[in-house]
Amino acid sequence: MTSATLSIDLSALVRNWQALDGLSDGETGAVVKANGYGLGAPVVGRTLVRAGVRSFFVATAEEGNTLRAAIGQGPTIYVFSGHMSEDTGPIREAALTPLLNSVDQMLRHVEALPGHPFGIQLDSGMNRLGMEPGEWSAVRDIAIAQGPKLIMSHLACADDDHHPMNPHQLAEFRAMTDGLDVPRSLAATGGTLLGPEYHFDMTRPGIGLYGGLPFVDALPVVTLDLPVIQVRDVMQGETVGYGNTWIAPRDSRIATVSGGYADGLIRAMGPKAILFAGDMPCPVVGRVSMDLITADVTDVGHDPVDLQLLGRHQSVDTVAEAAGTIGYEILTSLGPRYQRSFAE
Ligand SMILES: *Cc1c(COP(=O)(O)O)cnc(C)c1O
Repeated sequence: MTSATLSIDLSALVRNWQALDGLSDGETGAVVKANGYGLGAPVVGRTLVRAGVRSFFVATAEEGNTLRAAIGQGPTIYVFSGHMSEDTGPIREAALTPLLNSVDQMLRHVEALPGHPFGIQLDSGMNRLGMEPGEWSAVRDIAIAQGPKLIMSHLACADDDHHPMNPHQLAEFRAMTDGLDVPRSLAATGGTLLGPEYHFDMTRPGIGLYGGLPFVDALPVVTLDLPVIQVRDVMQGETVGYGNTWIAPRDSRIATVSGGYADGLIRAMGPKAILFAGDMPCPVVGRVSMDLITADVTDVGHDPVDLQLLGRHQSVDTVAEAAGTIGYEILTSLGPRYQRSFAE
């Protein structure tokens, strides 16, 4: 097989959700936007429904539609982008719950789908999505009269537990919502770890479910093994790859694996990345190409059948660091070429 295999450990996914659920007294939802952080929203969704998840969050109505087809009726699917003008059909047909971000979205929703469930997204300081305090105070009474299912906001700096933005946003959120008889949600993965005052009625972790920071206790969920296509001897002083960026410091054995930046293996990670042959680290040498990566397997002692990028020895966050990015981007970049194999 020449395409790489992305193995997804569904029991680790469930245990990560259970661990995060155990941190708060309220409901724990699950964020499955961007195709379940690249792993496959239908399988992730079905697995989490079996584990007891009753509320899912997606970015767009299209994602909600796909998820609804996979998980069936029953669980609530919240849509962060709210009710856009093209969304009325999918919101009705897939029974989605838009998180309304503005007065315009609210008017559109109550006109197009009177009586259809919705939630409210408030801006507590991130300035990305949601109603600002002034806007909210103008429509608050009308909105509450319609019976929103959830009022939520999002933290900008929750991955840093000492950041003054966290208590600032908490106070803003409370000022906008205290005393209202509607369930509230403020915390994603980072906020869940900040402590009980951030939990409110529902937490909504994403990255922690999939094994990423800031949930340091997360079990790894993803293993990525790249098949070796060819192995060759390279003499000391010869070069490997585009731009001749690597010059063999000794006679070397170089393996070429299937997988490159078109598969989300970010080109910038080249100089720092490591692949593993069993327990043996094999530095990536030369540039990451579109479909191929070259690694130094001289010290392995035999020609490996495949080399591992993600797994026991290396987390998404370690790879992210080599690429100068975050685990979220590594996961969501994993492309459609991989064979996804799901283990219970
Ligand atoms: C992506 C997202 C989440 C999940 O965040 P994680 O850091 O992945 O846990 C929660 N809420 C909102 C609004 C988001 O955009």
